[in-house]
Amino acid sequence: MTTSLLVTAYIAAAVLFILSLKGLAHPSTARRGNQFGAIGMLIAMVAVALHAGVITSPTLLGALALASVIGALAASRVAMTSMPQLVAILHSFVGAAAVLVGISNHLAPAVELSGVERTIHDVETYLGVFIGSLTFTGSIVAWGKLQGVIRSKPLMLPGRHLLNIAMLVACVFLGAMYLRGGHEALPYLLIMAAIAGVIGIHLVMAIGGADMPVVVSMLNSYSGWAASAAGFMLSNDLLIITGALVGSSGAILSYIMCRAMNRSFLSVIFGGFGAEEGAAPAGGAVVEGELVATTADEVVALLKAADSVIIVPGYGMAVAQAQHPVREIVDVLRAAGKTVRFAIHPVAGRLPGHMNVLLAEANLPYDIVLEMDEINDDFPTTDVVLVIGANDIVNPSALDDPSSPIAGMPVLHAWEAAACIVFKRGKGAGYAGVENPLFFKPKTKMLYGDAKKSVDAILGALRAG
Ligand code: NDP
Repeated sequence: MTTSLLVTAYIAAAVLFILSLKGLAHPSTARRGNQFGAIGMLIAMVAVALHAGVITSPTLLGALALASVIGALAASRVAMTSMPQLVAILHSFVGAAAVLVGISNHLAPAVELSGVERTIHDVETYLGVFIGSLTFTGSIVAWGKLQGVIRSKPLMLPGRHLLNIAMLVACVFLGAMYLRGGHEALPYLLIMAAIAGVIGIHLVMAIGGADMPVVVSMLNSYSGWAASAAGFMLSNDLLIITGALVGSSGAILSYIMCRAMNRSFLSVIFGGFGAEEGAAPAGGAVVEGELVATTADEVVALLKAADSVIIVPGYGMAVAQAQHPVREIVDVLRAAGKTVRFAIHPVAGRLPGHMNVLLAEANLPYDIVLEMDEINDDFPTTDVVLVIGANDIVNPSALDDPSSPIAGMPVLHAWEAAACIVFKRGKGAGYAGVENPLFFKPKTKMLYGDAKKSVDAILGALRAG
């Protein structure tokens, strides 16, 4: 492939990636955005494969084919509820790739450089390996926390900030040694990679369950910078651009998530916000009152008498896959002249935008799906709130219990409505592991059982008249 064709392909792919990001910013254009991204990636891969002689190397071609099959199988089989884990593990691959590219780049540099150029190149390699290693281990811990194999409670080592600083100082010192060491400096690079890996583990272990959304988007950003660093090492302009797009959009998303959770960015990345040593254990304050169970028939009677209904979907709705019958309930209620809207909390579910994806899957109209800020003031004038598989995002202790691990996080004011029905299977806590006083309030009733079964029962009774 000629250089001009390669540059044209790179520019086309870069433009498609930018259009993709633009499309992904709104649910109504997200599908098209995704398609732009996929086409851009295909163009990029074909261009690189033709240019770098991949198709003439049986080893590379075999690896490409195998990886494509594994990727396609994994993506087509993954359950919607496991998507966050898949994203976390994909971030770890980017980190691992940056480390491997850095090491191979050190062992066999693509070009022999000298003077300032050489120093810049070595700094790129060192930074790439540092970010890559941190991203690799941090993403694996994030995967473990999302999968539930690592407990979501933050690990609060004594003097953890000092430990982080000491490890960072060690990496800077090793960096200086690396820059002086020339070709013999590999051990410095490897030791730093190991320390950066420990930093990644420690940073993410110190983050509590409720702050995980920020971690997921932050690791997304890191993986972008790691890819960008690999692009510098390989002198590949498209990788630099793509990495920078992912890195900066991930950083903006992290900022948005921090704002949504009323967290300072630094306190989240340095770990353990809301869970300082000696703070109250996760679980929050003791809750007074009792849980009152209800039945599908009682909920139907409430809905028939209501003029306005707000549905608050949460992670449990994704687990139960209740979005389709929920849409049918919405259709029936709207046909009966009732106002029905959805209230979406920015960190509902386990991925940014998780609920929007579910509701789009069920073809719900976007104009009745509102963000927290748009709808939170409307709860006092609402007759019935249906909280379907949500917990942390409707927990009032975030507002009135300073000892709660989720203290300060804005939540949906479901308790202000005339009646609130909570759909959940039992007494399970939300992701943050704290008790929810909403469930014990006098206007709240619990509809126990799998959300899909409960929603199906309500739909059946509504249809039966
Ligand atoms: P939560 O995890 O707080 O609560 C979900 C509730 O759903 C549980 O209490 C559970 O109770 C119930 N549930 C589970 N399965 C079912 C089912 N089949 N049928 C009915 N109910 C079910 O979810 P929220 O959406 O309220 O909050 C999201 C949490 O996840 C926040 O803490 C957020 O910080 C965190 N998080 C968010 C990320 C994001 O990017 N959005 C990323 C990582 C973490 P029971 O077991 O009794 O049924």
